[in-house]
Amino acid sequence: NADAAMYQAKEDGRNTFRFYTEDLTRRAQQRLRMESSLRQALNNDEFILHYQPLVGTERCKGVEALLRWDDPKNGLVAPMEFIPLAEDTRMIIPLGEWVLRTACTQMKVWMEAGLPLGTLAVNLSPVQFRQPDIAQRIADILAETGLPAAHLELEITESTIMEQGQEAEAKLAALHSLGIRLAIDDFGTGYSSLAYLKRFPIHTLKIDQSFVRDIPGNPAAMEIAATIIAMAKNLSLEVLAEGVETAAQFDFLKSRGCDTFQGYLFSRPEPADVIPDALAQGLKQRIDPTLN
Ligand code: C2E
Ligand code: MG
Ligand code: MG
Repeated sequence: NADAAMYQAKEDGRNTFRFYTEDLTRRAQQRLRMESSLRQALNNDEFILHYQPLVGTERCKGVEALLRWDDPKNGLVAPMEFIPLAEDTRMIIPLGEWVLRTACTQMKVWMEAGLPLGTLAVNLSPVQFRQPDIAQRIADILAETGLPAAHLELEITESTIMEQGQEAEAKLAALHSLGIRLAIDDFGTGYSSLAYLKRFPIHTLKIDQSFVRDIPGNPAAMEIAATIIAMAKNLSLEVLAEGVETAAQFDFLKSRGCDTFQGYLFSRPEPADVIPDALAQGLKQRIDPTLN
């Protein structure tokens, strides 16, 4: 019991104390149950990928692979429910490699079928990025699946880069030299130094949903989004707005020069088999209603 209380104190930021309560035991048990279900899920192939279109002003530019757990008991489980635990237990390493392998294989199939998709975006956990041989692991998966590196974009967050200091630079350079593209996910929410934007080989900034959500009601959110777009342009980076749900958000972001959009306005994340239809039908009309 003392041990459980100590772990709670550590989890709450260390240098503090916590008293033992029964709730801690319940939580520890729940965590153990979840951990063993996750292990089983990986063995039983219960994970699936959905794909969400990344929409340019004239065409669909690619898709982002998003992980779901298809739990036989609870149905589809969102990544935020299990990724933190998968990271704590390092299970994210085999799981993340499964994601990369599956998504690259799918992308290759779509390309061979002639689907006009430029980029496959895949999220990379900080735990994966911390591996010293991360670039080699990704090179191996590309070789194994046959997807040309230029079609893969890895999404990492600012904090993933910042926590690694000097090492991040070498790893990003190694990934870049494979020919992979790099995107900063949830841009604008992390503690970071903007200096890394010019030091590192980054291709895309993804404006975090929290700014997009508050358009058009909140002038500060609008200014932040517009400033990120302007900064990306000045640095010759591509810029994508996440979580675009309304025409008002789309119009504003487009008027400020945003290149690429992702959100429910265009398409929800969908299973692979509906992506060809989702591309053919819905998107064209939404990008420019006069095309129809
Ligand atoms: P993210 O990479 O920033 O992904 C975007 C999230 O926004 C997705 O949530 C997507 O479903 C959601 N979204 C897209 N359009 C809209 C919209 O218009 N409105 C709203 N409200 N939400 C929208 P999802 O799929 O639940 O994923 C959440 C996060 O989990 C991801 O955020 C990413 O950080 C993480 N994640 C997902 N798949 C993976 C993975 O394979 N590996 C790792 N390491 N993390 C992943
Ligand atoms: Mg992402
Ligand atoms: Mg994001």
